[in-house]
Amino acid sequence: MAEIPAHFERIERFWLAPPHKARIAGGVTAYGYQWNHSNFDWFKTLVNDRLRKRQKNRCCYCRRPLVFDKGHVEIDHIVHKGSTNSPYARFAFEAQNLALSCKDCNNNKGKKTVLARAIRAGSNYPKQAKAFSWVHPHFHRYSDHITIHQGWVYESKNKSPEGLEVIRKCMLDKLAGKELANRRVIVDGAADLKAAVIRAVAMVEDVGLERLCRELGGHLSRKWRSASSAEVKQVIRDTHAAVQMIRMP
Ligand SMILES: [Zn+2]
Repeated sequence: MAEIPAHFERIERFWLAPPHKARIAGGVTAYGYQWNHSNFDWFKTLVNDRLRKRQKNRCCYCRRPLVFDKGHVEIDHIVHKGSTNSPYARFAFEAQNLALSCKDCNNNKGKKTVLARAIRAGSNYPKQAKAFSWVHPHFHRYSDHITIHQGWVYESKNKSPEGLEVIRKCMLDKLAGKELANRRVIVDGAADLKAAVIRAVAMVEDVGLERLCRELGGHLSRKWRSASSAEVKQVIRDTHAAVQMIRMP
C-alpha cells in the first residue's frame, strides 16, 4: 500500500525575541498562567503564524490538512498545562511545548500524559526526545515512528512504542472511517456526476486510485443513476489519467 508523506518531520525551532519574552513575563505577573486570558491573544496569533508555516499547514499528530471543515485549529500544549496552579502550568508559554493540532487529535489526546516520567518541580522543560513517551512534534522524526498508508491508515514504524502511543491516545485508528465519510460528503456536494468525479480525482493522492474507485463507484452510481458502478469507476480512472497527462512536464 502506498504511503501518505509526513509533510514535515519535526517542527523547526523558533525563538521568541526578548521583547516578546518580556511581554509574556509581564502578562504572567499580572494574570498568572491563564492561557485563555485575552491578554495573551497576541502570543497565540504569533505562535499560530509561525507554526502554520513550519507544520506546512498540517496537524502535528495525524498530518491531515488544518482546514476549517475539520473544526477549529487548536494550539496543543504537548505537556498538558493543567490548571493555573498545576506544576506544569509554567509550560503554557514554552515555545517547544506548543504545536498545532486538529480538533480530533486535540480532543482525543485531552489531558493524557506524554512524559516518560514526571518532571521534578522547578525543572526546565525537557528538550530531549527520550523524556517523552510519544512522538514529540519538536523532537522526534515523525516517519521514524509512524507510517501513514493511503486512506489514512496509521501504523507504528517497526512497532515504535512512541508511535503506538500517539496512535492510541489520539485515536488515529478511527480516522480511516472518518475520512471515508468525509470523502462521501465532499462528492455528494457536487452539482452533477462530472463535478463529483473531479472532486473524487482530487483525493487520489490520499486514498489511492483503486481504493477510491471501490469506495465511490457504487456510491456515485446510486446517487446519479446515469451510469453503472463500472462506468463510474472507468470515468474516475480516465479523468485521473487525463489529469496526470496535464501535470507531466
Ligand atoms: Zn490531527
